[in-house]
Amino acid sequence: MENKVYDVMILGGGPAGLTAGLYAGRAKLSVLIIEKGADGGQIILTHEIENYPGQSNIDGMSGQELIASMSAQAQKFGVERVSDTIEACDFSGPVKKFIGSRGEYLGKTVIVCTGAMTRFIGCGHEADFVGRGVSYCAVCDANFFTGLDIYTVGGNSIAAEESIYLSKFAKRLVMLHKGKALNVSPEIKAELEANPKIEVRLSTEVADLGGDGVLSEIVLRNTETGEFSTVKADAEDGMFGLFGFTGRKTTGMFDGILDMEGGYIKTNEKMETNIPGVYAAGDVRVTPLRQVVTACADGAIAAMQCSKYVGSLK
Ligand SMILES: Cc1cc2nc3c(=O)[nH]c(=O)nc-3n(C[C@H](O)[C@H](O)[C@H](O)COP(=O)(O)OP(=O)(O)OC[C@H]3O[C@@H](n4cnc5c(N)ncnc54)[C@H](O)[C@@H]3O)c2cc1C
Repeated sequence: MENKVYDVMILGGGPAGLTAGLYAGRAKLSVLIIEKGADGGQIILTHEIENYPGQSNIDGMSGQELIASMSAQAQKFGVERVSDTIEACDFSGPVKKFIGSRGEYLGKTVIVCTGAMTRFIGCGHEADFVGRGVSYCAVCDANFFTGLDIYTVGGNSIAAEESIYLSKFAKRLVMLHKGKALNVSPEIKAELEANPKIEVRLSTEVADLGGDGVLSEIVLRNTETGEFSTVKADAEDGMFGLFGFTGRKTTGMFDGILDMEGGYIKTNEKMETNIPGVYAAGDVRVTPLRQVVTACADGAIAAMQCSKYVGSLK
C-alpha cells in the first residue's frame, strides 16, 4: 500500500465514498478507500431508513444493514481498504498525497467524501436516544413522529424552517432556543407566529433526557433564572421527538486548499473542485440536499470523472 500510486483515493467510507469505490472499482481502476472508523458515516446512527429507493425492506431498515451491503458491493469490485485518520493532504503535484496517523497514501486522483458531522445538542443522555426520539434531520425522520409532540432546538433560520416543515407532521411543535430572541428574518418570524401548531420558547435549553427505551422525558433549564422543569410525553403517545438544529461542521482539513463556501467544498456538477484531479462528493460539498441518495449519486459521478481523468493521463 505504501508507495503504491492508486488511480483513485477515496477519503471516507460513508455512502458517497462506498458508491464512488463501487463505480471506480467496476471501471477497473485501482482504488483505495481510507476510513477512520466503521463504514457508514452518519447513516449508521439511524435505526430506520425509509427513503432510500430500492432498499431491501421498504418498511424500514437500519443504517447498518444498508451500509453492510454497500461495503460488500464495493469489496466485490476489488476496492482496497485502509483504516486510518487522515490529518493532512498535499494536492500540489500530479500525484496527490494523504498523510494519516498510520501512513501516507498516494493517488492520481482523490475523491473527498468526509461528510458532515452534526453538532450535538449537548444535553445529558443524548447519545442514548439518537434514533429513539432524538434526530438531527427533519427530511429523514419527520415521518416517524407523525401525530406526536415534537421539540426542536436552535434559534436560527435553519432551525425555524425545519420546525415549520416538522409542524406538518407534529401534533404540536415547541421550538426551544437558549437565547432571548430568534435569529431569523421578519418573514420567517411572521410565519412561525402564524402557525397554530408552533410555540417558540426562548431562554430555554435542554439539560437532560429520559425514557424507557424511547424518549419520553425532557428536562429543560431556563437560561435566565437557572430553573429546571420537566416535560413528559402524553401517556397515550408514550414518546415525543426532539430535533437538534444547532449546526453541522465539516473537517477543516481543506480550508485554504480547496474553494469552500460556508465550510463546505465547492464543486461543479461533475464534482470537480478547483484542483484538477481532486473531487468532492456527498455531504461535504455545497449541495441543496444532504441525503444518502444524493451522496451516492455524487460518488458515482465523481468516480466516473476520475476514470476520464486517469484515462487522459495515459
Ligand atoms: C441521525 C441521522 C439520520 C439520518 N437519516 C437519513 C435517512 O433516513 N435517509 C437519508 O437519505 N439520509 C439520512 N441521513 C443523512 C445521511 O446520513 C447523509 O446524507 C449521508 O450519510 C452522507 O454521506 P457521506 O458519505 O457524504 O458522508 P458521511 O456519511 O458523513 O460519511 C463520511 C465518512 O468519512 C469519514 N471521515 C471523515 N473524516 C475523515 C478523516 N479525516 N479520515 C478518515 N475518514 C474520515 C467518516 O468517519 C465517515 O465514515 C441521516 C443523518 C443522520 C445524522
